[in-house]
Amino acid sequence: MTESPSESLSDSPFNRNIDDNKNDIVPEIPIEIVSEEEMALLEAALVSARASFSAIPAIRCSTFSFRSNVRSIKSISALSKRRLSGCSEPDIEDSGGLKSAQKKTRMADSFLHRFRKKGLSVTDITATEWCEKQMEFVLLVGKRKVSKAMKKGSARHAKLEEEVVKKVKVRIESIEDRWALKLLNFITGVNQLLSEGLTRELPLIGFAEGVWMVGVVDEIRMPVTETIRNPLLVDTKTRVKDTLPAEPQRRNGRLQLMCYKYMWDDLVADKFPSNKFFDFFSLNPHHILSDEIREMTANSGFPAETLDDVVRYYRNTCGMLSPAHDQLLLRYEFQKDHSLLGEDEFAYDSDWVKNQIQGCLEFWLGEREASYTPEEERWKCGFCQYSSVCPAKNGNHNDPPS
Ligand code: SF4
Repeated sequence: MTESPSESLSDSPFNRNIDDNKNDIVPEIPIEIVSEEEMALLEAALVSARASFSAIPAIRCSTFSFRSNVRSIKSISALSKRRLSGCSEPDIEDSGGLKSAQKKTRMADSFLHRFRKKGLSVTDITATEWCEKQMEFVLLVGKRKVSKAMKKGSARHAKLEEEVVKKVKVRIESIEDRWALKLLNFITGVNQLLSEGLTRELPLIGFAEGVWMVGVVDEIRMPVTETIRNPLLVDTKTRVKDTLPAEPQRRNGRLQLMCYKYMWDDLVADKFPSNKFFDFFSLNPHHILSDEIREMTANSGFPAETLDDVVRYYRNTCGMLSPAHDQLLLRYEFQKDHSLLGEDEFAYDSDWVKNQIQGCLEFWLGEREASYTPEEERWKCGFCQYSSVCPAKNGNHNDPPS
């Protein structure tokens, strides 16, 4: 058991369990799949990811500002045509200056710029991989409500975390304090991993393919052998039904874990761009942290006065780690009794995950229109809350896999 700091000032207490991935629901939500409970995980993940980027309590209120921006379904069609109309002017685009100006306009109008100014979560990537059109609906229309099954899924993750992590409330007074806490949560979790061989709900903050990204790894295990020091990244999915999910869901889970390994390996290779981090999030590296945080860091053996100090500890901590193990582990658990339904152990594929992230970013950066889920996976539409308004609704609706 290790103590993990969480903030106590705002109405959205940060802690490394729920901040990025699990409970604390915020605006943009990926609609998930067949199982309600997995929806819960995605939603909760996005939520807390949002929270993790919402450096000040005001952003927590973005739930309300987001809702005030809700658009009609009709306007989505209009918006979705913006790229197509741009493509219909090849002669004009021959002009370099104009082309560049158009690219800037697209960027300014992009979903990333409009909805994820502070970066993406890994759940944004997986939800986009599930169906880009659905992700677009989520952004422009809004998410669906959190169901009981979803809440159960989140509660199970909180329970698993409680088994190994004790949360400690810490008062924060500034945006720098908030970020310092996020980084301290990582440091605390890594220390636990190195000393006890296991940690859960570890937040990752990194720079992937040109954008800031956050994620929370369900579980990290240190190998028991002395010779292998590559931590194993594990993700647990709880299932409403006592069956294993279909291949598209497993692929989605594999993508999630591979994104974590991608971020992890970047961090341990000391690729965390500190200056970019301060600039992008408008942070003063020399800001003096709150008394409580300074006292906490001193008691933990790494006295920090400023955010810059914490970032240096963060990078040093990353430097103590090895790249994550090439094998990744997805666990499927029955929600009713927590019994193990099955495990999917698979190898990391760096080219595949990079392509996936880049493909998703094309959508987020406004470089192309949202695509629909492929024909062979149109059974997803039968579980999609937007099927009645989605142009794909007249496509083939196959029975979902059992
Ligand atoms: S109806 Fe199908 S294609 Fe349309 S958004 Fe939903 S899942 Fe995607």
